[in-house]
Amino acid sequence: MKIGFIGLGNMGAPMAANLAAAGHDVTGFDLAAPVPEGVTAADSAAEAAAGRDVAITMLPNGDILRHVAAEIVPAMEPGAVFLDCSTVDVDSARAVADMAEAAGLRPLDAPVSGGISGAAAGTLTFMVGGAEDAFAEARPLFDIMGQKAVHCGPSGNGQAAKICNNMILGATMIVTCEAFALADRLGLERQAMYDVVSTSSGQSWSMTTYCPAPGIGPTSPADNGYTPGFAADLMLKDLRLAQQAAETADADTPIGRAALNLYAQFVEAEDGAGKDFSAMLPRFESRRRG
Ligand code: NAD
Repeated sequence: MKIGFIGLGNMGAPMAANLAAAGHDVTGFDLAAPVPEGVTAADSAAEAAAGRDVAITMLPNGDILRHVAAEIVPAMEPGAVFLDCSTVDVDSARAVADMAEAAGLRPLDAPVSGGISGAAAGTLTFMVGGAEDAFAEARPLFDIMGQKAVHCGPSGNGQAAKICNNMILGATMIVTCEAFALADRLGLERQAMYDVVSTSSGQSWSMTTYCPAPGIGPTSPADNGYTPGFAADLMLKDLRLAQQAAETADADTPIGRAALNLYAQFVEAEDGAGKDFSAMLPRFESRRRG
């Protein structure tokens, strides 16, 4: 396939490189980042997308996505697939999809989970909104860049799935960290707590796969000085998107809001910026109740 790839940062570069390594003809553009091996450099986003079967975007936020979409949509041929893999607000995803559809394109919103290591290894999970036929056409590309792609319904539903998942993740990570800090003060050994919770009803991915306590459970960022992994800053971004969506949809999400407030405090007023999102545990350890 002829692919245009716009946004070659931490995630986009390895995704584009994997598509090129699998034999696709990939042209790439980024405002700042270099083009990875195997990818042909374009001089603009429009040039990267022009005449391509699929244009993929992997950009920081919804405003930038809208800006890039305004550039590339007029350059693309009717029938081409516009595959956005960025994590953005649901409203931007739906607005961009409407713009693309009006131009005869087939839009998909397909945010990912799996992080930078998953992008490099080609093991991402894609959550996809958009038409069934466009999903089927993009399927071979999802199979190269990832290990799983779930069709979640019409445009915007991929972003909806992503922010709902990450709202659960943020909240379970916080409460898992709180519980470890409480257990410490109660004299309960962390290993004993892990052994109980990991096979009891308090079990979650935050506990069993990504345990925030160093030396407990499988290896995780806690065993590497809380180097991300998944940065607290990115969790904060996703929790903001969840609250923005909740306001638009008039949904009551009090725990999601509490998680947002705590990560905002951690990243913006404390020392959480640049740390893994599981570094909430040392935060609770050092906290003294006033
Ligand atoms: P990044 O900042 O490393 O990459 C974004 C790239 O977009 C940068 O290289 C930037 O120069 C480029 N860019 C910005 N504006 C542009 C424009 N107008 N035209 C062309 N290029 C432009 O970010 P990332 O970590 O690669 O994340 C990309 C997206 O993936 C985000 O939406 C993020 O939330 C999501 N995501 C990231 C992770 C992760 O672990 N990093 C995991 C899941 C999802």
